[in-house]
Amino acid sequence: KGTETNKKEDLLIKDRKYMWHHMSKHNENPMIFVSGKDSWIEDVDGENYIDGMSGLWCVNVGHGRKEIAEVAASQMGTLAYSPMSQSHIPGIELADKINEWLEGEYRIFYSNSGSDANEVAFKIARQYFAQNGQSTRYKFISRYRGYHGNSIGAMAATGQAIRKSLYGPAPDGFKHVPPPYCYRCPFGKEPSSCQLECVSTIRDTIEWEGAETVAGIILEPTITGGGLIIPPKEYVTKVRELCDEYGILMIVDEVICGFGRSGEKFGHQNFQVKPDIVTMAKGLTSAYAPLSITAVRADLYNSFKDNSGQNHFRHVNTFGGNPVSCAVALKNIEILENENLVERARELGRQIERKLQRLEHYKVVGDIRVFGFAAGIELVEDKRSKKPLSDEKMMKVLSVCKENHVILGKNGDTVPGHNNIITISPPFVLTDEELEKVVASLECGLMAIESE
Ligand code: PMP
Repeated sequence: KGTETNKKEDLLIKDRKYMWHHMSKHNENPMIFVSGKDSWIEDVDGENYIDGMSGLWCVNVGHGRKEIAEVAASQMGTLAYSPMSQSHIPGIELADKINEWLEGEYRIFYSNSGSDANEVAFKIARQYFAQNGQSTRYKFISRYRGYHGNSIGAMAATGQAIRKSLYGPAPDGFKHVPPPYCYRCPFGKEPSSCQLECVSTIRDTIEWEGAETVAGIILEPTITGGGLIIPPKEYVTKVRELCDEYGILMIVDEVICGFGRSGEKFGHQNFQVKPDIVTMAKGLTSAYAPLSITAVRADLYNSFKDNSGQNHFRHVNTFGGNPVSCAVALKNIEILENENLVERARELGRQIERKLQRLEHYKVVGDIRVFGFAAGIELVEDKRSKKPLSDEKMMKVLSVCKENHVILGKNGDTVPGHNNIITISPPFVLTDEELEKVVASLECGLMAIESE
């Protein structure tokens, strides 16, 4: 144990000296993970934790999948790379499989990250209109609280002020509308008086901007990272209708909702809509390899061709569609299919929804939301004022969970003092007993702050 401790100290010294961690606050005392198996991850001290967030909502098939490691090694030994100006077998097979999962006809453009995939979507949308005699259409509408990535365009589409405040000016043409946030309805409505003002505000924005200037609306089927904000049932369908009415492209960001997290193959399938463009990453490979996809309605692709049949989309991505990543994605999807993990995610979602009911009576529990196998528990100082629970108390809840060997997340709109939503999105291989442990750990966290 002594040498282990020394090893950890050595690692931490180097970490503090050389690492620049993600997220806004530098973590001086990070957990250092060394291995993972199923829903568990082990740190350098040999402590095991349930990965209650699947990393960053991505390790859907669980950790330590030998069959994925094998397929990656085998592909790496066969063909590790070839650019996507040409083609390769895993890339073709994956494009075929994604079409099957999307139940439509889409062209598949590969990149490396969710941010990339959304940037590609924006560029494709703009070019599509530019070469179809509608070059005035360049704007995108998205929702406050929604997250779409960290690159300049994707960040501009993101509706979380703090993420862009230091990095402006944002590119022109990104407009935001209030989200369908029923617990804190931006329009002051109750479910009984709701007239889907969250939809009419999109119409107003389109009208105000001029429909002839709007290229796309980008949305997640449910806002995940912004605090698990689940829209009213008709919302997504109504957005589709607005897009049709005004000739605007509907871009659905499935980076988190896709690949089973929503309880369906893709989140939008819960609402029976067909998007024009779908972006995906994370769960596409369960994060075993970097890969993302921008899936574009086939007829949009066809209209990119000029008289000589050439498609002039000016976008190259060196690593995008790497054969190893594509082979990993194929194996990941095979696992989801063979082990019925989408159905299991749906079932786990039903179970967690039932279990979370027992937390309703805690004073700090303002709202409990479950979408597929993702849960958001909104914590407040008291139920009446709905004042968001302080960052300090949020940290306390999470640290009690950690003491109980469960890692959960917190989300919100990322402004200090508004990160008051506990998020839970474990791998789909979680057992019933492990699910109980997750909920029990959260309950301990709630008890700890209520007894203070
Ligand atoms: N869209 C959504 C909905 C996301 O949650 C994320 C990442 N959290 C992204 C896009 C960006 O993905 P990446 O981090 O792979 O760039």
